[in-house]
Amino acid sequence: MSENAELSAEVNPCDANSAVTRGFDVARVRADFPILAQQVNGNPLVYLDNAATTQKPNAVIDAISNYYRFDNSNVHRGAHALSDRATEKFEGARDTLARFINSPRREQIIWTRGTTEAINLVAFSWGRVNLKSGDTILVSSLEHHSNIVPWQMVAAEVGAKVVPIPISTQGEIDMVALANMLDESVKIVSVGHVSNALGTVNPVADIVRLAHGVGAKVLVDGAQAIAHFEVDVQSLDCDFYVFSGHKVFGPTGIGVLWGRESLLNEMPPWQGGGEMIETVSFSGTTYNVLPYKFEAGTPDIAGAIGLAAAVDYLTGLDRVALAAHEADLLSYAYASAKNCAGLTRVGEAANIAGVFSFLLNGAHPSDVGTLLDHQGVAVRTGHHCAQPLMANLGISGTVRASFSIYNTREDVDRLFAALEKVKQFL
Ligand code: PLP
Repeated sequence: MSENAELSAEVNPCDANSAVTRGFDVARVRADFPILAQQVNGNPLVYLDNAATTQKPNAVIDAISNYYRFDNSNVHRGAHALSDRATEKFEGARDTLARFINSPRREQIIWTRGTTEAINLVAFSWGRVNLKSGDTILVSSLEHHSNIVPWQMVAAEVGAKVVPIPISTQGEIDMVALANMLDESVKIVSVGHVSNALGTVNPVADIVRLAHGVGAKVLVDGAQAIAHFEVDVQSLDCDFYVFSGHKVFGPTGIGVLWGRESLLNEMPPWQGGGEMIETVSFSGTTYNVLPYKFEAGTPDIAGAIGLAAAVDYLTGLDRVALAAHEADLLSYAYASAKNCAGLTRVGEAANIAGVFSFLLNGAHPSDVGTLLDHQGVAVRTGHHCAQPLMANLGISGTVRASFSIYNTREDVDRLFAALEKVKQFL
């Protein structure tokens, strides 16, 4: 923070130097993420690929390492101290995640490998029982492939169809079109909370209200929302909410399916094996209660413990200040983009979280990405697993800079300085 900014009497809530963000010490947050303090290709790393995966704070690295160092054991069935400790930490992690998204009950937190597996679980367990020929599954045109392909697979099995909800040129769901598409053939609406490619924040509570009006269920893909703002599954009133641990400062290989209890209770198990059974015999098998009915096999114990440590870390920070900080980074990037000749923003929704997607001088995004990497700036390029969205926009991909709590205005400046150099090669 410059001295002048410190002395400035003007307070802009969207400014990094404002009263709101002044309470937030980004340098302290950065110090919690050891990976950030490194050189890449001879330059200090600028990590702007947070929508792909977030970095991990020491608290998460230590929780996983300590688990393996001191407590490693299998859960639920051990008759010894280590197993008791592992079980206590693993089930404690479920409590932490239940509090984090305001789940009415801990049993509604089902551990999965991530968002993708959670959507597949719902598509195949709920879908095979509740979808039939002639039914409609609505997904938005913004969706990640994870929220399209499982629905296409189950639709092909049962004879239902997957229909995309149109979007505006700004990259927002067309709510009027959605309202017109909702009829009694629609059994589920599956939408992202935040678009990974454009950052659009979708009005999911409104979508839920409309969908429930025709008796359709709603799954919200929270992969890109969960790190940016507080999620309350009760106030959203959705039927399923899913997210991945690695997008919220936790480890890869762990994620959450949250579901309405009555629906989860009615749904058949998806995978069979240990843990998910009550009794097994060749004359018939009975299944365990929630959440274990959906957790066949040895779970990712360290992953769950690591994810709970990530959630504890995040909730220990001032989330209002974090949101203000991230909003400042985005508005600073958008303002800088206006002064960058040849840059075209992709996605200009009124409400965006974390993402700045763009094209430069008609150059192929992957060339831009490579030239940025040579300068230590990490971004993602390509279709971002959203090929139908790219087709809709008439482009093959974008360059995506995505921000998190540890990014700074200096990172944005480095991105734009690097883009000026990239232009010399195009
Ligand atoms: N949905 C969205 C919106 C995403 O951004 C992603 C990952 O980028 C996914 C789903 C898939 O997440 P995962 O690969 O962790 O299962």
